[in-house]
Amino acid sequence: MQFTGQAAPRRKTRRVMVGSVAVGDGAPISVQSMTITKTADVEGTLQQIYALAAAGADIVRCTCNEIEAAEGLAQIVPRSPVPIVADIHHQYRMALAALDAGVACLRLNPGNIRNPDQIKLVASEARDRKVPIRIGVNAGSLDKDLYEKHGGATPEALVESAQIELRYFSEVGFDDVKISVKASNVPLMIESYRQLADVTDAPLHLGVTEAGPPPAGLIKGTAGIATLLAEGIGDTIRYSLTSDPVDEARAGRQLLEAMGLRERKNVDLIACPSCGRAEIDVYKIANDALEAFGDREIPLQVAVMGCVVNGPGEARDADIGIAAGRNKGHLFVKGVNVAVVPEDEMVSALVEWAEFISEHGAEAAIARVDTEKARREAEKDRALLLTEQGDDANAAEQKIDLIRKR
Ligand code: SF4
Repeated sequence: MQFTGQAAPRRKTRRVMVGSVAVGDGAPISVQSMTITKTADVEGTLQQIYALAAAGADIVRCTCNEIEAAEGLAQIVPRSPVPIVADIHHQYRMALAALDAGVACLRLNPGNIRNPDQIKLVASEARDRKVPIRIGVNAGSLDKDLYEKHGGATPEALVESAQIELRYFSEVGFDDVKISVKASNVPLMIESYRQLADVTDAPLHLGVTEAGPPPAGLIKGTAGIATLLAEGIGDTIRYSLTSDPVDEARAGRQLLEAMGLRERKNVDLIACPSCGRAEIDVYKIANDALEAFGDREIPLQVAVMGCVVNGPGEARDADIGIAAGRNKGHLFVKGVNVAVVPEDEMVSALVEWAEFISEHGAEAAIARVDTEKARREAEKDRALLLTEQGDDANAAEQKIDLIRKR
């Protein structure tokens, strides 16, 4: 099979529109996150929504747990930069109030609203207003009858919960749905989505729920979401982290970019792991560079390499990179040396060159300098370091000699 640079072909699904954002049927996989403010706090919630959107969220969910929250939504929805989903748990009246507020989508938890008449009433209202609903099954709040029937929160139980809700919806002629079957246990989550994908063509919302604080929460979320995406399953994703929700949005975006499922929006920073050859504190320079680029929309791959001996070669595919020589940095664009800068200007030079490339392209950046001069300086530094460190920068040979003499 030919390598396409992307994950597996995507599963064919129907499409729902969450406001202006298409989900399913080949639409770009969207990133979701959720506000942690009180929804009644309109200004605070909007501020968080803007931060989430800047970090990569295409859709944002807000809780609608009380009438003040629904009233807040009525003011938030028209001012939000992204479509708003109302999260409903126990009170079907909150779903109706959220629809009145003009939200772009509802999330219903079938484990928490179990009265069929109430479910059908909400679905009818959503149908009339052409507002989609996410059926959000959660292993932790699974319908207790299903829990007993299946002997626990099994993949079969989670899928059946979604199917029961789908049947209620179809009784009132409503099928504008996306579905999630989340669990905090990664293998359970993966198997539940696989089984769900076999029985429905509704778009799927992926997530490992209650994954916890980073880095473990990020790893769990990535293990579940990326595994399914690599199988072509999933149309929209959310990381659930015990952390600033901006981290969730950023992680979602970065995962999709890393898997070639979304175009790069921000800098993709690669850096060597450092070793005995490093002429700088690679961790510090890489972190300073990450901070300097922040969420700026510079869709380039930027490399930070610890030495000029191997750095430029190993990062030759990066759009721009810097490799350390003795007290200085050698900048290279697409593997071509372009400039030498003092060590304390490495990060600012990277940002400046990246901005130029982003605006004018790599060729124009290379054309504006004497690359031969930069190449000669890099060669000189490289030769110097090789002479000093030899091929064995970590002095392994010396250590082996020592060991043998004991
Ligand atoms: S050889 Fe150079 S580029 Fe490679 S890990 Fe070591 S310091 Fe980094």
